[in-house]
Amino acid sequence: MEMQNWLLKQAETQPNHIAVDDGNEQLTFAELREQVAELVGKLNQLRPGDKVGLLATNSLMSYKIALAVITSGRSIVWLNWRLADEELQRQIADSGLLVCLVEDSLWRVTMSEPFRKYSTLLNQSTAKASLVATFKADRVASIMYTSGTTGKPKGVLQTFGNHFYSAISSALNLGLSSNDEWLCVAPIFHISGFSIIMRGLIYGITVRLVDKFRVTAIEQILVNEPVTIMSVVPFMLNKLVEQQKISHRSYNKSFRCMLLGGGTISRSTLERCLQSEIPVVQCYGMTETCSQIIALRASDALQKIGSVGQPLFTTQLKLSSKGEILLKTPALTPGYLNLPAKLPSKMVDGWYKTGDIGHLDDDGYLYIDGRVDEMIISGGENIFPQEIEQVYQQYPGIKEVAVTGQNDCEWGQVPVAFLVSDQRYPVTDLINYGRQHLAHYKVPQHYYYVQSLPKNASGKIRRFILQQKLSK
Ligand code: ATP
Ligand code: MG
Repeated sequence: MEMQNWLLKQAETQPNHIAVDDGNEQLTFAELREQVAELVGKLNQLRPGDKVGLLATNSLMSYKIALAVITSGRSIVWLNWRLADEELQRQIADSGLLVCLVEDSLWRVTMSEPFRKYSTLLNQSTAKASLVATFKADRVASIMYTSGTTGKPKGVLQTFGNHFYSAISSALNLGLSSNDEWLCVAPIFHISGFSIIMRGLIYGITVRLVDKFRVTAIEQILVNEPVTIMSVVPFMLNKLVEQQKISHRSYNKSFRCMLLGGGTISRSTLERCLQSEIPVVQCYGMTETCSQIIALRASDALQKIGSVGQPLFTTQLKLSSKGEILLKTPALTPGYLNLPAKLPSKMVDGWYKTGDIGHLDDDGYLYIDGRVDEMIISGGENIFPQEIEQVYQQYPGIKEVAVTGQNDCEWGQVPVAFLVSDQRYPVTDLINYGRQHLAHYKVPQHYYYVQSLPKNASGKIRRFILQQKLSK
């Protein structure tokens, strides 16, 4: 399958529609096409090879450079600016980059070739270049590293076809209006953010870029600007809900969808959203599936609180006998960078094994229980850390909690909790509290106090590091 270059298509069919708005500047699709063509001319002079690394915030310049990379016929390698030098170096080496463009504000003194400041690109002489006429479905548009929650991040290849099916499936679920404006504060180096850029081009709608999540500023935008959809991860929604408790401000009338994915959310937050009429639509997906592939319908959000919904139009779902979520979808990656055996090892009879465990209710709605790798098996019972964490998160004074399994000669494994708190609690109090809310076998047997929890750059708890601590 071959499609006309999405940017060229939009610039031809709706040249005056606003493509992107960063709060200071707005560009129409026609203006964007011109500016991107100039950047492609500059990029060609750098001779960066067929892949270009980007270390970028959600700035307008990064948005334009990203489009320049893909419309020049190259692939973007997205790098996470929160990574430490060593992690970055590993990904640079893994992806074999000749050039990695770095937003000037993210430049580090430790950086040398192949890192180059944006200014190196912008200082090239201007020679407008032509953009590729078409996007081929099987061409790699982006390479994106997974969050590294369960181990070393893996580079996921994402084709134009993957992005296209992902965008179309989402539109068939959420609907589409020419007035739609999608707020993009989710980092563009993660699929939650980059998929908004791709949808903006495919749908021909406005992307409202915001470079940092500051809760008051985001609320201000949701109240005052005609944003209709926003993608959030749990920590953002929690902050917005807390903020609304203080401000009592309602979002603008056309705001219709808070698309929530990426991790577990507490029921109390979802109930709070219901009360305050924040239209949350839960969804589930991963880097490998180019964002959401399972989502609620907005009309179901009230009845199915806690569920991530049903498979989108182009996705098929089934559960293995052990409850693992298996998928078929045209949004599935063709493979991992430099790991040719990895994807085949996750396929069974044409189904992709997600590594996540879930269950379906009688109406076929999916609920996520946790990850296969993080499941604790205690005396033959399966326990998911997230359920326990949500209970202890409510305990007065506990700031953060993470649960994992510890080897035990009687039960095989038992759950144990790592607590971040200024206080120390009697163990019997903690156990009694757990027993009021959880089956006895789920109540942590040991409690360890730590300064902070090991988290990845997306804020997800890296439980395998806690396990390593236990086995030392
Ligand atoms: P790695 O693969 O490197 O261990 P990761 O799986 O966290 O990292 P991502 O692709 O960013 O990397 O995240 C996808 C994962 O996030 C899913 O496999 C799932 O475990 C979790 N997830 C996504 N959406 C939800 C959701 N709505 N509820 C619970 N978990 C979710
Ligand atoms: Mg993963």
